Amino acid sequence: MKFGSQLVSFEVAPRDPHRPMATPIYQTATFEQEEATAFGRYDYSRSGNPTRTVLEEQLALLEHGARGFCFSSGMAAISTVARLLCAGDEILADSDLYGGTCRLFTRILNRTGIATRYADACNPQRVADQITERTKLVYVESPTNPLLRVIDLRLIAEIAHARGALFCVDNSAMSPYLQNPLDLGADIVLHSATKFLCGHSDVTAGVVVVKDDDLAREIYFVQNAEGNALGPFDCFLFLRGMKTLKLRLDCQQKNARGIAQYLSRHPHVRSVNYPGLQHAGRGGVQSSQARGAGAVLSFTTGSLELSKRIVEATKLFKICVSFGSINSTISLPGCMSHASVPPEVGALRELPRDLVRISVGIEDLEDLRADLEQALGTATASLKQSAEENVQALA
Ligand code: PLP
Repeated sequence: MKFGSQLVSFEVAPRDPHRPMATPIYQTATFEQEEATAFGRYDYSRSGNPTRTVLEEQLALLEHGARGFCFSSGMAAISTVARLLCAGDEILADSDLYGGTCRLFTRILNRTGIATRYADACNPQRVADQITERTKLVYVESPTNPLLRVIDLRLIAEIAHARGALFCVDNSAMSPYLQNPLDLGADIVLHSATKFLCGHSDVTAGVVVVKDDDLAREIYFVQNAEGNALGPFDCFLFLRGMKTLKLRLDCQQKNARGIAQYLSRHPHVRSVNYPGLQHAGRGGVQSSQARGAGAVLSFTTGSLELSKRIVEATKLFKICVSFGSINSTISLPGCMSHASVPPEVGALRELPRDLVRISVGIEDLEDLRADLEQALGTATASLKQSAEENVQALA
């Protein structure tokens, strides 16, 4: 079956005699047992719930893994993967990561004796140089967030495995429709499903899919022991949202290409980061490992004040920290989603203060272009006016 068919053609309610078309919400914490000493398939929803099972099995299928797991957030999924490590172990992470991931690695895991090193994973040699015998996990996003840099996942997998480390890819920006990291050598793929997988800004959720049964057993052990699995109602919303992943992303990606082209020709835009642009470096790597460039892009203007005014002048693009929704959103990552990057990690990465990140939705492209046109015009005019007023005040 092709991807679009898989999204909607799966067993939505195994063993249900009424054969519903949508997965029922098993909104129950516990399940009655027939005997005191032998339990049925489900006993307690922290350990397993039929609505969650349907979702987890569907995710394992879509990400080509042995088993999938759903969590209460993307961060809960990342924390669970980090639980595979012990005191004394190290993580080697790419330097362009989501701010919350850096915060977890640098400010929480350090308390448990797990250190994190950062390296620019776009340069595999840097990864090879930084990896040590203590490195147990190599961790990247590709394309990275928010600079949209492309990492050669096959090469990094080889480097990690040669040193006996696990390789984990945060695939939130691509989704399994556009990229399957497990096929490229990763051992673990994870998602903030809050983004494209759920797609409607109405669920906070996370996903881990692993390549083999041994890892699956370990992840399940942590999920059950720590109790961070996704609840049944959110699993239902997740299942419903994911059915339209292909339709949404086809439209969002087409719009993103149009916006990237429009911005790259605009006189007030300095640079545009989008893996789908002709001039974007490493376009070859992206097309060798993914089936598209996605719907997230970022750009600079040369001035933090101008970028701020553009973000605040848009109407269709909502100011939001997240990405991947059917609604277009806009943000200043340096002041918003990446403000939680610890300063010592921030110093290692070149995150321009004037960087604007856009996540393109399913609105009509003409309306989106018109909104950016008016925002760029309004912001430039208001900045010019403020400058003139300052000059007059000084005179
Ligand atoms: N990974 C990436 C790439 C993200 O952008 C985010 C959140 O923005 C996360 C993980 C964390 O996910 P959540 O917000 O669902 O906890």
